[in-house]
Amino acid sequence: MAKQQAPIQKNEIVEATFVDLTHDGAGVAKIEGFPVFVPNGLPGERAQIKVVKVNKGYGYGRIVELNERSPERVEPPCPIYKQCGGCQLQHLKYEAQLIFKQKQVQEVLNRIGRLENVKVHPVLGMSEPWRYRNKSQVPVGEREGGLVAGFYQQRSHTIINMEECLIQAEANDRIVQGVRTIAEKYGIPAYNEQTHQGILRHIVTRYGRQSQDVMVVLITRTEELPHKGKIIKEILEAFPQVKSIIQNINTKRTNVIFGEQTKVLAGEEYLYDSIGDIKFAISARSFYQVNPEQTKVLYDKALQYAELTGVETVIDAYCGIGTISLFLAQKAKSVYGVEIVPEAIEDAKRNAKLNGIENVEFAVGKAEEVIPNWYKNGIKADVIVVDPPRKGCDVELLDTIIAMKPKRVVYVSCNPGTLARDLRILEDGGFQTVEVQPVDMFPHTSHVECCVVLYQKDYIDEKTGKEMNIEVAAEL
Ligand code: SAH
Repeated sequence: MAKQQAPIQKNEIVEATFVDLTHDGAGVAKIEGFPVFVPNGLPGERAQIKVVKVNKGYGYGRIVELNERSPERVEPPCPIYKQCGGCQLQHLKYEAQLIFKQKQVQEVLNRIGRLENVKVHPVLGMSEPWRYRNKSQVPVGEREGGLVAGFYQQRSHTIINMEECLIQAEANDRIVQGVRTIAEKYGIPAYNEQTHQGILRHIVTRYGRQSQDVMVVLITRTEELPHKGKIIKEILEAFPQVKSIIQNINTKRTNVIFGEQTKVLAGEEYLYDSIGDIKFAISARSFYQVNPEQTKVLYDKALQYAELTGVETVIDAYCGIGTISLFLAQKAKSVYGVEIVPEAIEDAKRNAKLNGIENVEFAVGKAEEVIPNWYKNGIKADVIVVDPPRKGCDVELLDTIIAMKPKRVVYVSCNPGTLARDLRILEDGGFQTVEVQPVDMFPHTSHVECCVVLYQKDYIDEKTGKEMNIEVAAEL
């Protein structure tokens, strides 16, 4: 279909009604059918829009004046909401955010995955959707006479100081600003992106919601950190809940936050926290879900979907520090976890010991290489759980899952687009997507997490649509 000629021009002011939201939370207005994306517009609202950019099939605008307000619009409680850009939906009532996310998952599964009839449940939201994050990573910059620690102003490299972030644990807000003040007192220069000079690049804090312990990570360009001893002492004195201070050295010109070298400056090498009954030791560079309350909801759902009875062999692909693996191990015969980051696998092994769980094995490597090898060596799983990063599963892994024919696959995803793509491949390879449960891990942002269960079609009874007994199916 030929792209429509733009009926509008840059800088023109037009009046239009918003008909939808994009996946990242911008309003969609149609001008003679031509879509224009406008931050902060909500469906049903009418506004004067200034066109700021016109591309081939779509344009961008900004609201000049709002003429009709949606009943679902609320005043964003965060004073830096517009400057920051970390949240995209604070101006929409929380209940409406959940409905938007459910609709979005359904729409993407239909469009990209061609899964018209799949059941997408209402999103499981939070009763108190603020202050949920357990990890804060803020860039450090300089302003006249001192340091700033906060966020990059939208579409710029200017760092704005952030006293408080309403989706962040209070302890993280307080400790980041405390560490900034201490570094400033000792004249530590902030890293400068342009000149690749200066020392302090980022302050990272991680808070154990259950343990209430905090880990502080100072990310520096150089190994040398002047007044190191005094800085450590002051942090520990000011914040007794800090149980671990780590230095991570990142010498590269890059916007990747962590470097390769990590040193313990004080206290523990790990942060300890629990989810449900399981205790975790988490090292500075390992992935750990950022919303602990909803993580429990997500893992319980994954466990429910896995329907374990105690006799199953389970594979947990992209296992991180073994969180899902250890949940599953309590109900399975054995669990094999695989993960690409070596430190995370060390954490996973330690976490198994910490909890006295013996029926798990962990391997370092790419899921798409390790699991095909396991398969070649005769390991077959009854249930496979995958929890990949945003780019989804590698096709090699999906092909192995199809060949291995587990009874069930549980797919945990933070990106509905790649989830839909991968579900289509699994469907074509003999699985049926049975249920999709979105979980709101990231309130006020446009992100949504999903937990999905697929059944191997051979195990589905055609008459009832239900799963057959595994032995009966094996005889067919
Ligand atoms: N299931 C874990 C981690 C999920 S995040 C939890 O809930 O905590 C995704 C994980 O996949 C990260 O730990 C990342 O390091 C890992 N990863 C990324 N690419 C990978 C690959 N190709 N093979 C295996 N693991 C990978």
